[in-house]
Amino acid sequence: MSFQAPKGTFDWLPPRSEQVLAVREALVGPARLAGYGYIETPVFEDTQLFARGVGESTDIVSKEMYTFPDKAGRSLTLRPEGTASVVRAVLQHGLHNGQLPVKLWYSGSQFRYERAQKGRYRHFWQVGAEALGSEDPALDAEVVLLGAQGFASLGLTGVRLLINSLGDKTCRPTYRAALQEFLRGLDLDADTRARIEINPLRVLDDKRPEVQAQLTGAPLVIDHLCAACKSYHEEVRALLSAAGVAYEDDPRLVRGLDYYTRTTFEFVHDGLGSQSAVGGGGRYDGLSEMLGGPPLPSVGWALGVDRTVLAMEAEGLIDDTAPGRVQVYGVPLGDEARRRMFLLVTELRQAGVSADLAYGGKGLKGAMKGADRSGARFALILGERDLAAQAVQLKDLTTAEQTEVPLAQVVDVLKGKVQ
Ligand code: AMP
Repeated sequence: MSFQAPKGTFDWLPPRSEQVLAVREALVGPARLAGYGYIETPVFEDTQLFARGVGESTDIVSKEMYTFPDKAGRSLTLRPEGTASVVRAVLQHGLHNGQLPVKLWYSGSQFRYERAQKGRYRHFWQVGAEALGSEDPALDAEVVLLGAQGFASLGLTGVRLLINSLGDKTCRPTYRAALQEFLRGLDLDADTRARIEINPLRVLDDKRPEVQAQLTGAPLVIDHLCAACKSYHEEVRALLSAAGVAYEDDPRLVRGLDYYTRTTFEFVHDGLGSQSAVGGGGRYDGLSEMLGGPPLPSVGWALGVDRTVLAMEAEGLIDDTAPGRVQVYGVPLGDEARRRMFLLVTELRQAGVSADLAYGGKGLKGAMKGADRSGARFALILGERDLAAQAVQLKDLTTAEQTEVPLAQVVDVLKGKVQ
């Protein structure tokens, strides 16, 4: 029996994997330009961090976590998202005692035991940006803008930005009560009825048509915002408009994580079917306190790398013509030539020229096939006669033109040709 990657997971292979790497870099490029520093946190954390930080009533915590005891009996969980870990790290290392906001970005694997389908995986990749410790609508606008710029830098034109405000601890409770009252009057199954009492906003996020149909007249949080939240939201919108960011107000936008307050937003792409969200985020003013820290009003996003690649595919932006793996390919003929070629290839790499050679004692024909497959522009053919003459045959694989070059000069000659 041969092994398969576990259900809901997959492998990125060359040459596509190179593009995935480039996508990841591009998505966070704007944040890095805005002074966000790189943070790496463990792939697993204390289970309680997510239980408290993401929220017991969320699907993520109640159904989707990969939780296991370690050998000493500690309960650990593979991270399902990045924000709770970033806040934990900031508090643990006292970064919030320095200049605020603390600006951080991350990139890494996330794990959720979800129903696997196209665009929804159990192991997926996110990049994230978080700005912690400031309550300023300009910071919300910056974070949203940086996400929009990340997608735009990849050439994507079909990404839409939806925004909403979820209110704060002043106005959210009144809205919550109004929403609960409305929801209690609907015809819903037992699980959903239970959800009304624990986390009614999540019911608005229920994708089932029979539920959506009943939600038409549901009270909207935007109509219940207090004066402070209202003017904050207006300012965020005005700053986005002034920066030329196109957005759509979506009064029904709520998100699956408990910690959001005020600004929430999502980036969606219409070419992806049901899993249309390519990124999302918002303000999470209460999270630090939920984790035992001081008040630390913060805002951030996470963008889905895998779905962004799917969106690029949908827009025809993925170029699958494999670029050359290396620039130069060595074809040694005989043992002595192989030893010399090994050194030559090493020298080329040290000089910044990417190079590979035919391994496994292949003959001329097999080795030249390897040269073609590598995508190299040049082949270096070294036989016994060449060795005796301290020379090598340099073949341009695009023109089939072949010249003899002294071994002592070939690195310099190739450096000149490939740059
Ligand atoms: P969230 O952390 O749920 O706000 O998700 C942020 C982004 O991560 C989403 O907009 C998706 O692009 C991506 N994402 C979330 N869950 C998955 C998943 N199961 N598979 C692939 N991408 C995901």
